[in-house]
Amino acid sequence: MRWIGDRESDNIEDRRGGSGMPIAVGGIGGLGAIIVLVVGLFLGIDPSTLLALLNGDQAQPQQTDTQTVDGRPSQGSEAGHDRTRQFVAVVLADTEDVWRQVFKSSGKTYVEPKLVLYTSQIASACGLASAASGPFYCPNDQKVYLDLSFFEEMRARFNAPGEFADAYVVAHEIGHHVQNSLGILKTAKSEEASSDRRGANAISVRVELQADCLAGFWANRADRTKHVIEQGDVEAAMNAASAVGDDRLQREGQGYVVPDSFTHGTSEQRARWFRSGFETGDVRRGDTFNATDL
Ligand SMILES: [Zn+2]
Repeated sequence: MRWIGDRESDNIEDRRGGSGMPIAVGGIGGLGAIIVLVVGLFLGIDPSTLLALLNGDQAQPQQTDTQTVDGRPSQGSEAGHDRTRQFVAVVLADTEDVWRQVFKSSGKTYVEPKLVLYTSQIASACGLASAASGPFYCPNDQKVYLDLSFFEEMRARFNAPGEFADAYVVAHEIGHHVQNSLGILKTAKSEEASSDRRGANAISVRVELQADCLAGFWANRADRTKHVIEQGDVEAAMNAASAVGDDRLQREGQGYVVPDSFTHGTSEQRARWFRSGFETGDVRRGDTFNATDL
């Protein structure tokens, strides 16, 4: 991924080295004991909230002078984390640029979320979270929480290397912020309250697959405007989406798969919804709530 020299977001809150308390919302995958609040039946989601987003929005391609990045820093080192921090700040800035434009073109204002870097555990407005939860978005304070060690876990545990895979993780969480900004998370959550476990899981899957599609959409727009994508990047992101699919995680974790317990979708679904957003560059394709076939 080409990113060196690009704008870094000011919306990073670096709270690494601190301590915090838990509950995570809408993480990237079913890692550890993540508690998913975004659940419910898939009723009452207004697709027009997404449909309204793309009217007349056509980003103009524009060349940005950047360098190719080759090689990653040694994992776990402080220097490595600082470089990764810089990388995350650039990706976050890219999401701000894309979503600001999309919201603006539909007469809305994109309120930029904060991204909190932490180590081990952190107190969020959604409760105490630990690194075992994986990255997550908390709608209560509109912040994305990320322990950078997750990227190392992506490589070592999930066999999902590549900076663009890491960018997908950030873009997925920002996708939840977009959903929150459009009222989708709130609706989903209220539907969850009147749903049984199975129905709650089903709405969670649709929320998560939509976030994957929005991440793909971001990748499309970021590449159109800044040419960030290099050879192999899209495959790396799709591999990452696939790596955190519920079926694969369950098979590796417990040796068998329980579809009704899925909260994020299968590997195949996650990769496919990411690709759908990426290839079409059409946010309307992210209407997972009315899709008959996920
Ligand atoms: Zn998620």
